[in-house]
Amino acid sequence: MPGAKLAYPRKVDLARTPTPLQLLDRASARWGGGHRLWIKRDDLTGCALSGNKVRKLEYITAHAIDNGYDTLITCGGIQSNHCRATAFAGAQLGLGVHLLLRGSSDAPAEGNLLLDQLAGARVSCYPVREYVENLDGLFSHWQAHYAEQGHRALAVPTGGSDGIGVWGYIAGAEELGRDLRAAGIDLAHVVCATGSGGTQAGLTLGAALHQLPVTVWGINVCDDERYFLDKVAADAADWRQRYPGVPRVEPDTRVLDGYVGAGYAKASPEVFALIAELCRLEGVLLDPVYTGKAFAGLVAEIAAGRFEGCRDIVFIHTGGIFGVFPQSSGFNC
Ligand SMILES: *Cc1c(COP(=O)(O)O)cnc(C)c1O
Repeated sequence: MPGAKLAYPRKVDLARTPTPLQLLDRASARWGGGHRLWIKRDDLTGCALSGNKVRKLEYITAHAIDNGYDTLITCGGIQSNHCRATAFAGAQLGLGVHLLLRGSSDAPAEGNLLLDQLAGARVSCYPVREYVENLDGLFSHWQAHYAEQGHRALAVPTGGSDGIGVWGYIAGAEELGRDLRAAGIDLAHVVCATGSGGTQAGLTLGAALHQLPVTVWGINVCDDERYFLDKVAADAADWRQRYPGVPRVEPDTRVLDGYVGAGYAKASPEVFALIAELCRLEGVLLDPVYTGKAFAGLVAEIAAGRFEGCRDIVFIHTGGIFGVFPQSSGFNC
């Protein structure tokens, strides 16, 4: 039954929720092909602590505090939104944060990397090869280092995507269900950018748990369809194992592959142009790494008739604004 009580674990209030669900009239006329385009403004979960990662961090930080951790170690690209959000969550809660970043330590301190440093996170940069081949070893090394100093460091995986983090978008899906009812939407496609899989895993599980009248689609910005089918299944399995009392639901995972382009964080001129056009039309700013690419994928899928027969499409704006600035040269301004 919809709204059946689900036993959420404790969370720390970090995100400004509920976020608005907005109808994009002009974008619908421009790209909707007869559909109504809506946007769920999860870029507005906060100011510096903004975007989708905040919803996951509400549960991850509560887990850390409740289990006696005083430090968070996490990882990502040099311009990781997740690392920046973790740095700010840590600063807000008095937890130490250590970021293991993939790339050169000469990277300019701009965008998210600047914010990491302002929020007092310790940053270690590793060459791509070492990072890819030895990420687990780096986590163990630093956890042992903190233990020797009398601290307890929690290893938070890429993007905060695991069985704890998925609660963020299980709750986000419940919130979206209320938004849909309030807007009188009784059937919709929900589309989000997928990078480490946790947002999609949470939304997909949440849609099943809360029996939302939606189909959830992830548009991957790295890796491929097979990778994310497996990753969402793994996050869901981790969730069931950590919380044995949760209802048994099978996530209906759907990935729209084909929009990665030249690679992670590499956007085409068309994606930059689309970001600029949406910004002019609606005053909504997307980023070139995640949301801009996913929105370009959404526009292409609408044109190809993917969502035929359903009036409403909801795009989840997962944030990423600080990723605009290090790539400002991609815009024709
Ligand atoms: C991390 C991120 C995503 C992808 O979310 P995952 O849960 O990692 O798949 C999408 N958009 C933005 C802006 C992000 O920072």
